[in-house]
Amino acid sequence: MRKTIGITLMLVVLCAAVLIIGCERRQAGTDGLPLIGAAIYRFDDTFMSYVRNTIQESAAGRAQLSMVDSQNQQPVQNDQVDQFITQGMNAIAINPVDRTAARTILEKAMAAEVPVVFFNREPFAEDMQLWDKVYYVGARAADSGTMQGEMIVDYWRANPSADRNGDGVLQVIILKGEPGHQDAEARTEYSVRAIRDAGIEVEILAEDFANWQRPIAVEKMDAFWASFGDRIEAIICNNDDMALGAIESLRKAGIFSGDSFIPIVGVDATAPALQAMAEGTLLGSALNDALNQGRATFDLAYALATGANPAAAGWNIENGQYVWVPYQKVTLDNFRDFQ
Ligand code: BGC
Ligand code: CA
Repeated sequence: MRKTIGITLMLVVLCAAVLIIGCERRQAGTDGLPLIGAAIYRFDDTFMSYVRNTIQESAAGRAQLSMVDSQNQQPVQNDQVDQFITQGMNAIAINPVDRTAARTILEKAMAAEVPVVFFNREPFAEDMQLWDKVYYVGARAADSGTMQGEMIVDYWRANPSADRNGDGVLQVIILKGEPGHQDAEARTEYSVRAIRDAGIEVEILAEDFANWQRPIAVEKMDAFWASFGDRIEAIICNNDDMALGAIESLRKAGIFSGDSFIPIVGVDATAPALQAMAEGTLLGSALNDALNQGRATFDLAYALATGANPAAAGWNIENGQYVWVPYQKVTLDNFRDFQ
């Protein structure tokens, strides 16, 4: 009898301990707000800094947000996720360094029952299917590629002199984001496809990765100019920072002075890109809507952190897990609406 009471007591104490620890992990922040951890693949990425600011603004007064810089290193981010879990975050929002690592992150989060919102770098579909408390916020990259292609088509049709060597073929250079990034792959593929679909023959003189970064794009473009020079008839860039790098490089070669022009398109519609459009160097871009991506990311994380239904957070959730924020074509006719 005594033994049974003893064991029962021990069990009660054990259960209480588990409950307390469990509760502690689920505790709200000091001011009663839910705890949300957010990791950004790197803080010095132009587009991500817009998204980051929006998440921060959305969180003000609603959540205790802890935002960390993963410094473009997946091991660093994995540690940050571990820390978020130990700190008792109620939900986490992750912009993976390497989207193939989403699974590792997800497994950690699932084990600790901390819901996850991935954004901007899309996990593989099979990883998304591992859990119903994981969401993705992004944009359909193919659309931005198609928009870029269409802008080049319009330019080519309106400007016969765009065919610099008069061979009826459009000679292009492509500056890509980074290997494996869904946006880099889809934008490259669909921009070229849109030009070909319009019945224009395309010759890709060269393509290379510039990791989304302006200084790298300058270097790559310097080298491309040295190899192809005047044969270049258009430059398609997976984002605006690289487009600005290409412009910087071509300026040194005397392009954009007087009548000299080469059509260059980017994606994001960042402030400096819109400025370049105003100056007449950048032909066009596609708005990558950082505001709505940041808001959706926060709203889903907040719903998950507070135990609310994400479907009621005000965003259209497709296939139960995806929020797709549309791109918008930004041309010389409408760019002022985006400034
Ligand atoms: C943006 C890039 C950015 C990248 C980061 C893309 O959607 O267009 O500018 O560098 O996301 O993952
Ligand atoms: Ca040509």
